[in-house]
Amino acid sequence: MALLSIITPCYNEEETVDYFYDEVHKAILKLDTDYEIIFVNDGSKDKTLEKCLELKKLDNKIKIINFSRNFGKEAAMLAGMREAKGDYVVIMDTDLQDPPALLPEMMTYVENGGYDSVATYRVSRKGEPPIRSFFARMFYKLINKMIDVEIVDGARDYRLMNRNMVDAVLKLGEYHRFSKGIFAWVGFKTKYLEYENVERVAGETKWSFWKLFKYAIDGIVGFTTVPLRLATIAGALVSSFGFIYMLYIVVKALFFGDPVAGFPSLIVIITLLGGIQLLFLGIIGEYLAKTYMESKKRPIYIVKEIL
Ligand code: UDP
Ligand code: MG
Repeated sequence: MALLSIITPCYNEEETVDYFYDEVHKAILKLDTDYEIIFVNDGSKDKTLEKCLELKKLDNKIKIINFSRNFGKEAAMLAGMREAKGDYVVIMDTDLQDPPALLPEMMTYVENGGYDSVATYRVSRKGEPPIRSFFARMFYKLINKMIDVEIVDGARDYRLMNRNMVDAVLKLGEYHRFSKGIFAWVGFKTKYLEYENVERVAGETKWSFWKLFKYAIDGIVGFTTVPLRLATIAGALVSSFGFIYMLYIVVKALFFGDPVAGFPSLIVIITLLGGIQLLFLGIIGEYLAKTYMESKKRPIYIVKEIL
C-alpha cells in the first residue's frame, strides 16, 4: 500500500488543528492508502503544540516537528518534506483554506493519471482585502514577465507530489525559499485544479502586508536577475539621453549664447539621476544581501524535538 505524507505548517493554530485533523481524517478514509500526518509547529506561542500532542494520543500516525522558534512557513514546509517518508507528499494549511476534500481527486491524478504532481489555485480571492488582491495580481504579472517558468496566479502551496518530485525539491537547499517558484522550477508534469477561495475556519492570517511584500521580493530576487539587467539598460538609456542633451546644450550655447539659463532642468536631472542611482543601488543591495545570507550557510530552521 502506498504511503501518503500530509504536511501542515502551524503557527498559532490552536483553534484550527482539531478541525484540520477531523477533515483530513474524513478525506483519508476515502483513500486506500496508508498515511502519516506531520504537524510542523513553527514556534507557536499559543497551545498549538499541546493540541497536536492530544491528537497524537488518539492517532499514532501523527508526527510533530517542533521548531525552536518561529522560522516561517517556508522553513516549516521544508522540514516537513525532509521528514516525510511517503510515496506521495501533500502540503496543506492548517486553517482548512486548502480543502482536504480534494485529496481523493488529487490522488487519482498522481496514481493513475500519469501526473507527478497536482497543484491547486484559487479562481477567486473572495474574502480578501481588495488592495491585497490587487498587489498579489500585480506580483504574478511582474514575476511571470521575468522568470523562465510560469507561476500560476492564485497558486496555493496546497500541492500533492510524488517521491520523485519531492526529492527534486529537496535538492534545492537555498536559504531564502520561495516554494511557488521552486515547484515551478523543478518542472515535472503537473495537473492544476481550481477552487473557490475558502475563508479560514478560525483564527487569523499570519501574513501582514509587509511580510507578503518581503516574500514577494524574495520570490523575484530568488528566481531572476532581470532587475540587475534593468540597471544596465537604464544606465545605457540615461547616458544616451545625457549625451544628446549635451550636444543640444553646446549647439544652443554656440548659436544663442545665454549659458546661465537652465537651472530648473539641472535640478530635475540631478534628482532624477540621483533617484535612479539609489534605486539601482538598492536593487544591487538586495542581491548582495541575499548572497551574503546564503554564503553563511546557516540552517534554515532549528528543530527542538521530533515527536
Ligand atoms: N504559518 C507558519 N509559519 C508562519 C506563518 C504561517 O507555519 O510564520 C502557517 C499557518 O499556520 C498556516 C499556513 O502557514 O497553516 C498559512 O498561513 P495563513 O493561513 O496565516 O496564511 P494565508 O492563508 O492567510 O495566506
Ligand atoms: Mg490561511
